[in-house]
Amino acid sequence: MTPDLSYPDIRMRIADRWRTGADGRTLPVLNPATEKVLGEVPLTGAADLDEAVAAAVDGFAAWRDTPVARRTEILHAAADLLTERADEVGRIMTLEQGKPLRESRGEALRVANTLRWDAEDARRAYGRIIPSAPGTLLSVRREPIGPVAAFTPWNFPAGSPMRKIAAALSAGCSIVIKASEETPGTACELVRCFVDAGLPDGVLNLVFGEPAEVSAHLIASPHTRLVAFTGSIPVGKLLASAAGAAMKPSIMELGGHAPVIVCADADPIAAARRAAAAKFANAGQVCTSPSRFLVHASLVEEFTAAFVAAAEEVVIGDGLAEGVTMGPLANDRRLAAMEELVADATARGAKVACGGFRLDRPGYFFAPTVLADVPDDARVLAEEPFGPIAPVVPFTDLDEAMRVANSLPYGLAAYGFTESAATAERLVRGLEAGILSINHCGGSVSEAPSGGVKSSGYGREGGTEGLDAYLVTKRVSHLLEDGR
Ligand code: NAD
Repeated sequence: MTPDLSYPDIRMRIADRWRTGADGRTLPVLNPATEKVLGEVPLTGAADLDEAVAAAVDGFAAWRDTPVARRTEILHAAADLLTERADEVGRIMTLEQGKPLRESRGEALRVANTLRWDAEDARRAYGRIIPSAPGTLLSVRREPIGPVAAFTPWNFPAGSPMRKIAAALSAGCSIVIKASEETPGTACELVRCFVDAGLPDGVLNLVFGEPAEVSAHLIASPHTRLVAFTGSIPVGKLLASAAGAAMKPSIMELGGHAPVIVCADADPIAAARRAAAAKFANAGQVCTSPSRFLVHASLVEEFTAAFVAAAEEVVIGDGLAEGVTMGPLANDRRLAAMEELVADATARGAKVACGGFRLDRPGYFFAPTVLADVPDDARVLAEEPFGPIAPVVPFTDLDEAMRVANSLPYGLAAYGFTESAATAERLVRGLEAGILSINHCGGSVSEAPSGGVKSSGYGREGGTEGLDAYLVTKRVSHLLEDGR
């Protein structure tokens, strides 16, 4: 069957209208599997942003005072629409981002559940009554923080925006979100679900633009109360500084360089197969992707062979095609980065166990790559690869492996493989990471928090912690009777 290559008209959503930017600027959106232009994304100017913020202020006033039961009903209706539309949302996501349809559709369904979970959790954003003096009512309330400014990247075109939209709206906040200009179609489809579900105008505003211009404007606006960002560490530091200068809290979900420690007592084949499945998901463009493989020397040969076998089973191609398990990289920047990292590692003595090259065809395709005998000074061991490269490094002493694992400024995800509960506990206590998985490399879930330590950021998305950044705590003491 010929795939459907139609792509929607991209518009921003400001207040009650789908519209282009006032000054008519646009950027092309590319299909990374073909390098062909899919459409044009409109860009905001300062006046559009002011309108978006004004809409969010009005939207907040209306949404905050909407009964929680009604808010929940609307959010569930949006989640149901997204579930119904998962095939179409997935198709658009694959066209603009490249990941295989199965992953895109799965992402749409998963984020519908994130929305349901946050919506339900917000119904339990309880305050408390504190014992106090007679005639005095001392209480603590949790209130929505106010209009949120959010910025999301291109690797999870539905997942990243929904994490922020779901938490903000569930908490009773409004939001102006700048989703990625490289994957705007998915963001429009998400917003369409909320509009069709009856969300009041102005509660959810979607813009695209020149990222630095948009973030500077929105963060400086006196009306935005929280800055939420997912992306690279350098940009995160920039936005966190701007938020700090404006005395606004921020939540930062930044990069990682996740170590995988395969201990001497682990099953090297099972570890390799699980790690490889996670490594090549979304072509490795995942902030929690396993990306440094520290393997006990006694297992390294078997582990590497099994990893290579798994890499060779990957079916690479256009994500719309039947049977494809890994699509192209999302943009030419990642392709160039992969080529540089492999060239640097091999120049320093690493061996290419498989892959290591760009595919000779249109599109940003890079072969699943395993590097063996990678020396300590190779850039790929220090820089987040954010692509399908797996560097393998042997170790003999677990404490030394943990020291290496903790030696980078990153602290997002970490993985350990061991049959021993005591060794697992050593890893849990010793590894500096916000997310730790033992004997698997599974992804995030709605009901548990995700986030980093060290330069990987702060704040948590998901779980009961996921609403914390979007709520403020108010202490209320009420003197009921005078003169006692
Ligand atoms: P980049 O650092 O230029 O951009 C990262 C994201 O931040 C993009 O979505 C971009 O639009 C946005 N951005 C850039 N400057 C901004 C600004 N001044 N204000 C607001 N937003 C801004 O890099 P890139 O080439 O798009 O991505 C490469 C690197 O980014 C990867 O190597 C990876 O480290 C990181 N990244 C991380 C995640 C994540 O989930 N944590 C997602 C995507 C990219």
